[in-house]
Parts: sequence; structure tokens; C-alpha cells
Amino acid sequence: MANPHAIPLAEPAPNFRAALTRHFAVYGYTRRAVSLVWDTNRTLAITLAVLTLTAGLLPAGMAWVGKLIVDGVVMQMDLVRGGGTAEYAAVLKLVFLEGCIIALLNVAQRGINACQSLLRAQLGYRVNEMILEKALTLDLSQFEDAEFYDKLLRARREASSRPLSLVMRSFALMQQLIALVSFGVLIAQFSVWAMVLLIVAGLPAFVAETKFSGDAFRLFRFRAPEAREQNYLEIVMAREDHVQEVKLFGLGPMLLQRYRDIFNKVYGEDRALTLRREGWGLALSLIGTVALYGAYAWIVIAAINVTITIGEMTMYLLLFRQGQGAVSAGLGSIGGMYEDNLYLTNLYEYLEQEPVTMGGDAVSGPHPEDGIRFEHVTFKYPESATPTLKDISLHIKPGESLALVGENGAGKSTLIKLLCGFYTPDSGRVMLHGRDVREWDQSALHRCIGVIFQDFNRYQFTVGENIGVGDVSDYRDKDRWDDAATKGMAKPFIQRLRWGFETQLGSWFKGGKELSTGQWQKIALSRAFMRSKADVLVLDEPTAAMDAAAEAELFEYFREHTDGKIAVLISHRFSTVRQADRIAVLEDGRIIECGTHEELVELDGIYATLFFLQAEGYR
Ligand code: ADP
Repeated sequence: MANPHAIPLAEPAPNFRAALTRHFAVYGYTRRAVSLVWDTNRTLAITLAVLTLTAGLLPAGMAWVGKLIVDGVVMQMDLVRGGGTAEYAAVLKLVFLEGCIIALLNVAQRGINACQSLLRAQLGYRVNEMILEKALTLDLSQFEDAEFYDKLLRARREASSRPLSLVMRSFALMQQLIALVSFGVLIAQFSVWAMVLLIVAGLPAFVAETKFSGDAFRLFRFRAPEAREQNYLEIVMAREDHVQEVKLFGLGPMLLQRYRDIFNKVYGEDRALTLRREGWGLALSLIGTVALYGAYAWIVIAAINVTITIGEMTMYLLLFRQGQGAVSAGLGSIGGMYEDNLYLTNLYEYLEQEPVTMGGDAVSGPHPEDGIRFEHVTFKYPESATPTLKDISLHIKPGESLALVGENGAGKSTLIKLLCGFYTPDSGRVMLHGRDVREWDQSALHRCIGVIFQDFNRYQFTVGENIGVGDVSDYRDKDRWDDAATKGMAKPFIQRLRWGFETQLGSWFKGGKELSTGQWQKIALSRAFMRSKADVLVLDEPTAAMDAAAEAELFEYFREHTDGKIAVLISHRFSTVRQADRIAVLEDGRIIECGTHEELVELDGIYATLFFLQAEGYR
């Protein structure tokens, strides 16, 4: 039965020409890789080119001098046999020359190695930097796109090795080519046909090498989802934040089995490809060997017939052997280059990704007093079938506090994400300060808004820096840390820490301290207070781990300290929610009730029912 998951190794080519174009387009990235090196370090690039040229030409020179030595020796021997006196100086000079050439070759090879080591560090750093710079400009929705994520993962995984490897292989190939051409020039003196024979014998191996390298890369590319899953399983099994649950639920063996299954599938495909690649490689290289030894026999016969000298024979034999070595090294380079090039295709596909929502360039709105306005906003996530928000209209003025309530999945966080410009409504618009969020410059918009999400980041930095990140323009200001921590109710426990604000958090780094969920939430709240310049402050359930009384007290405090600003709170606790100036109840993406606590109780709808139900629970 046909395997439905079989991976098509070669994409069907509409015609030979298209296939050929695709084949060679892939080498096009070599130029980009070389210009990457050129931009990274010119001195190294030039040195490398000169050394490569030198290393390419010297072997032919060596073979030539070798020939002169042998012929010189034979001549001297004849002289001695004929009773004459040998003349050593000329031959010894040649021996010395060959020694010098070998030494020079050594210098060139070492130099190439040194350049390679230096470039590895610089190029790896440069490519990683490019990847990260790009990541900072991309949209949230792009990170949630599995295909995009694959590209990013693939780009990052081999960023430090592939570009250098491509450059090195290009230079190595150039070196082999220069050597081959110089060998060819010398061999052509014997017979142009011998040269042609050797080239023709090498071609099938070259074509096979390129084909199988292409297949290998396609396999690698199709496999990105598996690689991602394996990576994820590794994280779940071996990272501190997952260990607790994995142990308790006894998930280890199940996870490991899944990991194993992926490996077995992937290994099976690898094995099939490897066997085919090596099988063909062997068959085709045999053709090469036959051609080589055919030429060998030809030369031996020519020497016996005294058409060429012994020195020439030694030279040609050496050239053939070295030529064969250069051909197989060249083939290796080509195969590798194909893979490196395809890696670069992926890297540049990632780097050329355009942000989806470009944002405008406005840095302020015409009516700051208008606050936030949602006008008939409907929005659907790209992947989902039905809209998450439906016809939402809402106006919040500066100085006002609003609480959003509703079941999980009602769309509360999505509302906030639209306000932040992370997504664009499908219809309707979101306005801030009287200007459509789409027209705002993204960073100007984000400066106006401070949001602490439910899944806020727990940075493995110090306590102070964890608070400071709330205002990046001032994130090392210790007085402000202190002030924000006091407002966020984090000060008391921070003071009890041995190093206070300088305490390293998390367990990634030495001496790091792990906090409780409630303590982390207080850090997050302090972060919100750090964002004192924002006009809108949003707390999206970061207080869930606190007790109800602490949360209510905190929100009271929050409202007092955000005087003249807009405060939005998402919470499931009605004791907190009731303090807000206005409450909007969301259900299935719609606002079904909106008003003050008293109005909604009066209305006796969903809010009133839930409120009394919860109040009952506390009684
Ligand atoms: P709430 O904050 O009210 O709990 P959310 O706004 O987080 O709800 O989610 C509303 C709905 O949108 C849920 O059904 C959720 O599954 C869906 N959703 C949230 N984020 C995404 C996303 N990135 N892609 C697709 N669907 C999403």
C-alpha cells in the first residue's frame, strides 16, 4: 500500500529547462554568502581569496618541478653510466625548489585554516544578529504561524555554521578548480583526449552528487514539523518549569516513546536516502576509476615507446592521482554547497518576510481627551472558523476605569490585543486619542499603553530589572523601582530577599531565586506602575493567584494611582470588578451588558446572577 505520509523527494519538474533553472538557482546564494563575508570582514575575505589562489596553483607547480627532477636525475645517471662525472648542483636546486613549494603550500593551508576560524566567529555572530533584528520587527500573528515558526527555527538552528561552511566550500571548490585547470594544461601537453576523457568520466558523479544533495535538503525541509516536535519534547522532558508535572503525572516514558517514534521514522528515511546516495556514488566513481586507469595504461605505453620521458611519465601519473583527489574533493564541496545554499534560501526567505500589519507613522492623536473607542469591531483569528469578537462598540474616556468580565474564551484578551495593534479588525475600527490604531506608529502606540498580561514574562534578570522593564527608557533607575514596587505591593517581600532588588531571579543563572506565583504577580504589577507615562493601563488577570481581599485592595490602589488615565481590568472576582466605574460583560465575543455595578445589579441580568452567586460563596 502506498504510504500517505511518504515524502516526495523530488518535486515534479514541468520541463527540463525549469528543472535546470531551479537546479542552478540554488547556487545563486553563493554570491550572497560571499558578499556576507565581504561585508563582515574585508581583510579576511581578500586574504582568503589570495591564499586560495596560491593553494590552487602550487600542486601543479610541484608536479612540474618533480618532472624536472626525475629527468635531471635520469640524465645524470646516463652521464655516470657513460663514465662521466655527475653534476649535482642543478638537480639539487630543483629539490630545494620543491621543498620551498611544499613549505609555501603549508603556509597557504594554515592561513586558510586561520581565516576560517576567525570568520566562523564573526559570521556566526553576524547572521544571528540579523535573525534577531528581524525577529524584533515581526508581528505577533507571524510568530503564531507554524510555517513561519519553522522558518525561524531552521534559520536559527544552523545560523552559526552554514554561512561559513558555504563560503569555505566555495573557496575550496575554487581551489580544486584552479588545481584541475592547471593539471589540465599540463595533461593537454600529453594529449587533449586524455584530458577530455577524464572530464567526461567525472561528470556522472557530479550530477548524482547534486541530485542526492538536493534530495537530502528537501527531506530536511519537509521534516521541519517533526524537528519542531522533537525539540518541544526535549524541552518538556528536560526543563525545570516542566519537570514537576512530568514527574507527578508519570509522563516521562510516554514522552520518551513519542520522541523515539519520531526518531525511528526520520531514521528510516535517512537510511533509504543514504543507501541510494552511496550506492550510486560507488557505481559512478567506478567509471571514474576505469577511465583513470585507462589513461594510466596509455601513459605507461607511451613511456615504454619513448614518446615521453620518465620524468613526464612520473608527472602525468602524479597529476592523474592528484586530479582524481581534486575531483572527489570538488564533488564533496559541491554536495555540501547545495545543502548550504538551500539553508541560505531558507534564511533569506525568513529575512525577507514582511511584517503583516505595517502600522502608520502617526505619533499622537488629534483628540487625547477621546480616550479609547471601539467602533463596531469584528475580528476573526486567521486560523479560526468563527469570529472571536463580534460588533464590539465601546468608549472609555480618560480618568475612567473599566472592568471586563466574561467566561474564559469570551474574547477579553483579544480585545486588548486589538487595542495594542497586534491584530487588525476585519471590520470596524479601534481608535486611540481620536486616531485609528492602524495609523499609529507601532512604538508610539505601545508607549501609550501599559499591559500586564496573564502570562506576563518572568525574566531571568534581577528583581529590579524585572520591574524596570516596564519603562525601558529608565529601566535601571533604582528610585523608580522602589516606588513602583511599593505601589505594586511587592516591596515587603523584596526587602526580605537577601540581595533585595539585586536578587537574581529564576533558575537559569547561578544564585537565581525562584519566586512563588503570587510574588511574581506582584513583580508584574510593579512593572505596570513603572509604566507611569502610559495613558492606558491594562491588567489582564495578573492577580489570579492573590487572595480576593488583596486583589480588591490592589485595584483600589491601582485606580487611585492612575488618576486621569484609563484603567482596564480583567478579573473573575466581582469584589474587585464592582469597584470599576463601568463594567462590560462579554459573552461569546459580544458585549451583552455594560454599565455601573448598580445599574447592572438593577438590570438583573447575567452580571447580577454571577455577582450574587459569588457573594453567596464568600458568605
Ligand atoms: P479571554 O481572554 O476572554 O479568556 P481570549 O480573547 O484569550 O479570551 O480568546 C478568545 C477566543 O479566541 C478563544 O476561543 C481562543 O481559543 C481564541 N484565540 C485566542 N488567541 C488565539 C490565537 N492566537 N489564534 C487563534 N485563536 C485564538
